[in-house]
Amino acid sequence: MSLNEIIQTYYEYFNKEKLPYIKCTNCGYVFYYPRAICPKCLSKKLSIMESKGEGEIYSETKFVNEKGQVTIVGLIRLEEGFMIYANILTNRLEDVSINKKVKVEFKEVIKGQKFPFFTTIS
Ligand SMILES: [Zn+2]
Repeated sequence: MSLNEIIQTYYEYFNKEKLPYIKCTNCGYVFYYPRAICPKCLSKKLSIMESKGEGEIYSETKFVNEKGQVTIVGLIRLEEGFMIYANILTNRLEDVSINKKVKVEFKEVIKGQKFPFFTTIS
């Protein structure tokens, strides 16, 4: 599969509200960001898998603009073992902390295309 085909497949998964990731069928390494070659063993034997969309916050940063509006970006570790950078959506800032459980949620960011975000779960 070419990189463009992988990216196209990711976009289709997002619109079906599914979170994809890639598993190397040669060495078993799992990763999120689209690549046509396994970053560990350089194999091209890759499969696109569907994540359960649940994981925990590995690291997070709160950005505050001049109006006091807060945007939170986190590094999320999914149960399947891969990591993803994503915005974390919450009405309760105190809920966002390291190791907190989160799940994926999809929002239409540009017309006709959804993208993944995460929300905290208790
Ligand atoms: Zn590999």
